[in-house]
Amino acid sequence: MLYRLKSAGYQSYLVGGGVRDLLLGREPKDFDVATDATPEQVREVFRNCRLIGRRFRLAHVHFGRDIIEVATFRSMQDESGPGDRESENGMLVRDNIYGTIEEDALRRDFTINALYYNIEDFSVVDYAGGVKDLEQGVLRLLGDPETRYREDPVRMLRAVRFAAKLGFMINEACEKPLFELGSLLQSVPPARLFEEVLKLFMAGVALHSFEKLRHYGLFAELFPATEESLAHEDHEFPITFVNRGLHNTDLRVREGKPVTPAFLFAVLLWEPVRLLAERYRASGEPPLPAMQQAGNDVLMAQLDRVSLPKRFSLPMREIWNLQHRFEQRAGKRPHRLLTHPRFRAAYDFLLLRAEAGEIDAELADWWTRFQECDGETRGQMVNQAGNGGELPKKRRRRRKRPSRSAPRTPSGD
Ligand code: ATP
Ligand code: MG
Repeated sequence: MLYRLKSAGYQSYLVGGGVRDLLLGREPKDFDVATDATPEQVREVFRNCRLIGRRFRLAHVHFGRDIIEVATFRSMQDESGPGDRESENGMLVRDNIYGTIEEDALRRDFTINALYYNIEDFSVVDYAGGVKDLEQGVLRLLGDPETRYREDPVRMLRAVRFAAKLGFMINEACEKPLFELGSLLQSVPPARLFEEVLKLFMAGVALHSFEKLRHYGLFAELFPATEESLAHEDHEFPITFVNRGLHNTDLRVREGKPVTPAFLFAVLLWEPVRLLAERYRASGEPPLPAMQQAGNDVLMAQLDRVSLPKRFSLPMREIWNLQHRFEQRAGKRPHRLLTHPRFRAAYDFLLLRAEAGEIDAELADWWTRFQECDGETRGQMVNQAGNGGELPKKRRRRRKRPSRSAPRTPSGD
């Protein structure tokens, strides 16, 4: 690939995360290529090539199922940030899209992401001290940190993500603004934040990422209602629940099992949903409408910050809405629940609630046994459960606190 561009007379390098991961001895997720050929010129070299993007055109070269992204060297403008579209200095964006390799290096975020690998002679082109930072395990932004964060606030999330993923230290000057500039994330389109949230929480380092995000006050910008429910809790449960949920996700990712954004968001938003549903129930709503209404309210507010496509929010809400049905263990209902298409996810969610101490472990155990046993035993289990109607749910005891805007109503206490 790089040879083809070379023999056509162009410079070309591997760049970005692929080079970083190679030099760290990690398996690169993908490779990006940077070249001095324009996208049109790249297309002339590769038949299996498509140009994408309107403002900044990129060439996607297809090799079987793999796609290699080939980008022409660019100068300071960056397509990814919302802020940098505002041509603050009145500079005409169009005029200087393309640049030299050196300019291309300087527009990147961290020194360790600004390394160019020349496969011709296996040399690494390093304009910014990235090799040294890589060796020392340091994340350092190019240029003035605050300016770079203001240009594109998503870089704050990237700092956290790479620190969590690589186990790197964020250099002091780059770390300080993280505590102060979090609110800039409010100007980032929710759809872009959704992408970043997935990268933060679905790459096997969700728990680390979560802890760091909270440390810098960035989690509150992404999930304000969740942060509220964690911050005001005088009780370990909610944080335990989120921690366990994220830890489970990490284990699944590392084992190569599928994880879905629906389950992830169900975990992240559960505490505010649960509290609100409790309030609706206290004011007389039956369990299902209470949960539906709470799920709806919390989701609507959340979408202002981080978007969540319908194909994920629908199953997420189903996971929540199914929870109360696990309490109904008499008659035909348990059998019916078992055949529900979302049973598995809802049951995994139930286990998490039990592990975190929100509900009685007995209930989760019952469902575990119920699935595993044969039809006859199932009948017996249902009969036993049916004797006194629904088994009383054990309530966690909560200390009452003076009610604030969102009173927690420990219904049943
Ligand atoms: P990952 O392994 O997660 O893909 P990555 O470093 O490859 O990490 P990408 O989002 O794929 O991250 O971006 C590729 C490269 O583009 C980065 O290495 C960096 O050089 C540059 N880049 C990406 N996002 C930004 C940004 N917001 N600001 C500046 N440069 C960026
Ligand atoms: Mg990448």
